Amino acid sequence: MTGPMPLTLASIRQAPKAVLHDHLDGGLRPSTVLELAAQCGYDQLPAHDADSLGQWFRDAADSGSLERYLETFAHTVAVMQTPEGLRRVARECALDLAADGVVYAEVRFAPEQHLERGLSLDEVVEHTLAGFEEGAALATEAGTPIRVICLLTAMRHAARSLEIAELAVRFRDRGVGGFDIAGAEAGYPPSRHLDAFEYMRANCAHVTIHAGEAFGLPSIHEAVAFCGCDRLGHGVRITDDISDSETEPRLGQVANYVRDMRIPLELCPSSNVQTGAVPSLEKHPFDLLARLRFRVTVNTDNRLMSDTDMSREMLKLVETFDYGWSDLERFTINAMKSAFIPFPDRLRIIDEVIKPGYAVLLG
Ligand SMILES: [Zn+2]
Repeated sequence: MTGPMPLTLASIRQAPKAVLHDHLDGGLRPSTVLELAAQCGYDQLPAHDADSLGQWFRDAADSGSLERYLETFAHTVAVMQTPEGLRRVARECALDLAADGVVYAEVRFAPEQHLERGLSLDEVVEHTLAGFEEGAALATEAGTPIRVICLLTAMRHAARSLEIAELAVRFRDRGVGGFDIAGAEAGYPPSRHLDAFEYMRANCAHVTIHAGEAFGLPSIHEAVAFCGCDRLGHGVRITDDISDSETEPRLGQVANYVRDMRIPLELCPSSNVQTGAVPSLEKHPFDLLARLRFRVTVNTDNRLMSDTDMSREMLKLVETFDYGWSDLERFTINAMKSAFIPFPDRLRIIDEVIKPGYAVLLG
């Protein structure tokens, strides 16, 4: 026994991690965006070398508005319209996550945004799943095994959510774990897509909903009470239902329900600051929610736009809230318990990968 390993970016990279909220179109390598754009003839990129393009994405995402943040996706989505583009982006996503020490990942994207060059919804999903499979196989060869599950997202301003829910159920045994809605929250409440959520529930299939990011409590209330979501994407604004949070926190009905039902919160620290959902990392309610024993999880959201990965998100939390290895292990087990894969598979990853991995780091 040598005592716990010091908490550094390098040591956190060695820790087994699980991510539940990561967008495929938010995690491209800048060099891949450039190469795919050249291949498919997309000439709208705002920069022409990998460094300045990466910087452009970060600057645009730093603007503090969710709407401007979402604009950056026009460029990544534009180069993901072909079989090769989808496959390569998915393959590299699996490889990049695995190289960061992620052992389990749920990566989401919106198939309806990838039809510009004639692919069908089913083809979009097939090529993407093939890319994840290739990436996972290469990661195993490299000694960093990872399991990647895909979540299908419907855009909340559009009207294809039922179709996407059906697509998710159709591919449920081939690598798709569940269904989500995303996009600008204001004006597009989750209940607008009730038929899709009812379809998922009728098929005993999993649902997570982006709610309580830019918009407040009503969105979270609808997501849990009307749409029956299994998890909340972000959900940071659950704090609107917690009073006296500094002194003696008191929970309202919605916050109580979310905590009682152990509805996981897919918190994304860097992204939550960038989109203005919280004013700063120091003021992020992550620690308050963790202390109140909500089921908090750490996530990346968009690695390209936030210039981040799971290790860096965890390091930021360590630096801000003074967490130790046992905290990081707890957040990771929280995520794994909340995964959209069968219960025995979750347990196996917890018992055989996560716990032994942290035991080594704890010394
Ligand atoms: Zn998201």
